[in-house]
Amino acid sequence: MTAHRKSSGETAATFVRRHIGPSARDVTAMLEAVGVKSVDALMAETLPASIRQTAPLDLGKPLSETEAIAHMAELARENQVFTSLIGQGYSGTILPAVIQRNILESPAWYTAYTPYQPEISQGRLEALLNFQTMICDLTGLDVANASLLDEATAAAEAMALAERHSRVEAKAFFVDKDVHPQTLAVMRTRAEPLGWTLIVGDPLADLDKADVLGALLQYPGSSGAVRDLRPAIAALKAKGALAIVAADLLALTLLASPGELGADIAIGSAQRFGVPMGYGGPHAAYMAVRDALKRSLPGRIVGLSVDSRGMPAYRLALQTREQHIRREKATSNICTAQVLLAVIASMYAVYHGPEGLAQIARNVHRRAAVLASGLRKLGFAPQSDNFFDTLSVDAGAQRAEIVGRAAAEKINLGVGETALRIALDETTTPTTVEAVWRAFGGTLVYAEIDASTREALPEALKRTTAFLTHPVFHAHRSETEMLRYMRKLSDRDLALDRAMIPLGSCTMKLNATTEMMPLTWPEFGSLHPFVPREQARGYHALFARLEKWLCDITGYDAISLQPNSGAQGEYAGLLAIRGYHAARGQSHRKICLIPSSAHGTNPASAAMVGMDVVVVACEKNGDVDVNDLRAKAEKHSNDLAAVMITYPSTHGVFEEHIREICDIVHGHGGQVYLDGANLNAQVGLSRPGDYGADVSHLNLHKTFCIPHGGGGPGMGPIGVKAHLAPFLPSHPENRHPATQAEAPVGPVSAAPFGSASILTISYIYILMMGGEGLKRATEIAILNANYIAARLDAHFPVLYKNHNGRVAHECIIDPRPLKTTSGVTVDDIAKRLIDYGFHAPTMSFPVPGTLMIEPTESESKAELDRFCDAMIAIRKEIADVEGGRFKIEASPLRHAPHTVHDIADDDWKRAYPRSEGCFPAGTSRTDKYWCPVGRVDNVYGDRNLVCSCPPVSDYAEAAE
Ligand SMILES: *Cc1c(COP(=O)(O)O)cnc(C)c1O
Repeated sequence: MTAHRKSSGETAATFVRRHIGPSARDVTAMLEAVGVKSVDALMAETLPASIRQTAPLDLGKPLSETEAIAHMAELARENQVFTSLIGQGYSGTILPAVIQRNILESPAWYTAYTPYQPEISQGRLEALLNFQTMICDLTGLDVANASLLDEATAAAEAMALAERHSRVEAKAFFVDKDVHPQTLAVMRTRAEPLGWTLIVGDPLADLDKADVLGALLQYPGSSGAVRDLRPAIAALKAKGALAIVAADLLALTLLASPGELGADIAIGSAQRFGVPMGYGGPHAAYMAVRDALKRSLPGRIVGLSVDSRGMPAYRLALQTREQHIRREKATSNICTAQVLLAVIASMYAVYHGPEGLAQIARNVHRRAAVLASGLRKLGFAPQSDNFFDTLSVDAGAQRAEIVGRAAAEKINLGVGETALRIALDETTTPTTVEAVWRAFGGTLVYAEIDASTREALPEALKRTTAFLTHPVFHAHRSETEMLRYMRKLSDRDLALDRAMIPLGSCTMKLNATTEMMPLTWPEFGSLHPFVPREQARGYHALFARLEKWLCDITGYDAISLQPNSGAQGEYAGLLAIRGYHAARGQSHRKICLIPSSAHGTNPASAAMVGMDVVVVACEKNGDVDVNDLRAKAEKHSNDLAAVMITYPSTHGVFEEHIREICDIVHGHGGQVYLDGANLNAQVGLSRPGDYGADVSHLNLHKTFCIPHGGGGPGMGPIGVKAHLAPFLPSHPENRHPATQAEAPVGPVSAAPFGSASILTISYIYILMMGGEGLKRATEIAILNANYIAARLDAHFPVLYKNHNGRVAHECIIDPRPLKTTSGVTVDDIAKRLIDYGFHAPTMSFPVPGTLMIEPTESESKAELDRFCDAMIAIRKEIADVEGGRFKIEASPLRHAPHTVHDIADDDWKRAYPRSEGCFPAGTSRTDKYWCPVGRVDNVYGDRNLVCSCPPVSDYAEAAE
């Protein structure tokens, strides 16, 4: 790396001190409370000596925040921002500045957690309900989910949904030859391990003969052609097969919806609704289905319910479909999705409204129609007369020349197998169109061609139905209204910018502002994922260093940056294991051992690659039962594919026998998948690649500072030992020489480097921490957890500790005995914490009825104390119930959370004073967080499922 300007008064260690919460003095006090002499001594009591990393983590000299930004500016200059007319599911778009600043760049939105605690998540839940409403309206279907990872994954998920529901016996699926190539590639990856056949063809010609369970049709096609798909859909229906339509949301403002055409499922990307391309992501994909399929819908769904006063309140619906509960029988392994991006897309629709969106669509279409007229004049008639925004042209022998001339104009065209593709978007101007004509060899004037051009949407497919009729899409047209709407919603929520979010397994640490800044720079945001590699030199330099750092940190030999979440990393890692066994003639190895304490995504991912899950028991002390593991590995010795193990365990402990577990599995020919969600307890102290693991995912949105965004985005790169490196996911658009050859494993994401733009966050974090800083962060994360364990143990017993009485970076506390003595539930404690101004810890995972607390290194001693004080005060309230002051039903615990309605009620008849309910011990009256709704009734919501904005009967005409 080049030398950097040294800024005055800022030393490299500055950022480490900012990232880590406790001061040196706090650390001394905490060590004393924990009962240990030094941080080193605590580490020695916490981690088994046999796995300790001996060499220091050397990642180069850390940079200060100022230096890091200067360095990022240098990298940014290595990326070239061309006008990309490549299409293929990614479009230029204009993110309204008011949304960029107040959502994408606002910690109130991006630091929020997944809305599992609905009372403190009403703002983002409303935004997601708007998203679902928008998707239902535009697709003409009944129920939409709150986002999926990308369009290609959504297509694969839809295929799996169709397989579960189709009445057709055949395990064959039809794919339109006009789908985006990366979508087809991701579907192939998904279909192959399950033994499903893909038939690629023309749906209007080849579908009749095909014996298929369903089909994916693209609308408009990847080539740009707008075809009437009704005959194809009718043919599918006649067979009892399901029709899935991948549709462009902007086109749907002008075209008949998939629902009207008869489709059962619609999927696609919401990227062009204001979300920068970001060299691949993150963006929200969507899926919508007919009512009959809603219980099979993958991903999270926001629904409406009522709170304790019977007032409407949002919450996540139908959670029993998800992997947390259904495990290997879940509808999919999706956990982290794309909430922040779905919120942005929904706000784009709120901002523009239906008429604004349709106007954008008409403008884009107009440009495309004029472009087509000009091209015809120049002798390059587009292949289809019906199109929305994309043209495909057979350029014959002049192809290379045209692409070269376009490049000279700083324009990227889409280079298909035979045709050139020109995809226009919201940012396209007449100047762009004229430049494209020049690339095709002619000098034409836009205004002249415009005058003689007619539109090219087929009459029979024009949209006649209304969409976005709900008032929310009409009331926020001025920037003032828009600003206040977003502010109103974020004020309803509790995110990291207000309080600690002590979520076990989720590592809600600091998302530093400096880490967040470059990602909205155009040099990172505006790159199409399939631009020629030389335009993305800055990105590739960043990838190479990040991969090297992650290898150094984990002890692995190679990294794939492709998976878009931890669960997708699991899927990719298991595909690598499967590919490795197959290459050695061991395809029969299909047994996957998974401890009972595993995260639900583990078994769900194993099922996706066709493995059979065998559950391994845990011992009383929480450790994996090694005898049971040995017995099961032996029993399945011939067929053993892998073990999936989380380390330190989901019970928050570094188990002593991790090496032995790895050895046993290897001894029976299996591979070790180590779930890296808990890497925050290991960085700088131990490396999975050193003590026997073969592959891990790293949740960059946990250990490496990508914010949770209210439930996404995330990134789940995988690290592998050298023998698995040939089986990392490949990608049809990745021109890297090393992966040119026919790869044994296909892609798992639509883009070759997943959600590339947010890799900048993890990169800057490592850049500013350095090896020593990262190690220090891990040590303090462990100290913070042990401090909480020490302070709370006497009040709520800590369930699992190692033989030295230590926990790792998180601890599980056990209020279950109190249920017998007082009737208090884990829910009561979680909701009462809201009254104290906190987000609850992780509830009932991995042990039902318990709470798992992970403070991270970023929380100061003051905040840890505030949290512990609140927990201890809650314990006293439980003691009040035990002591007979009131019954649990009458206690502030059961009435929690308290809202403004409680404080404003004219007649207060509760068994405790109003002040005790609303301002419990130690809380501030001036800085009180009020959640907008009382306790939400989950059962009611699932019985009366409403998943789009409720109709408003007195809806007045549009607000302008
Ligand atoms: C978070 C988590 C996962 C899933 O990761 P996502 O990024 O949400 O897909 C898997 N395993 C464990 C132990 C986790 O904590």
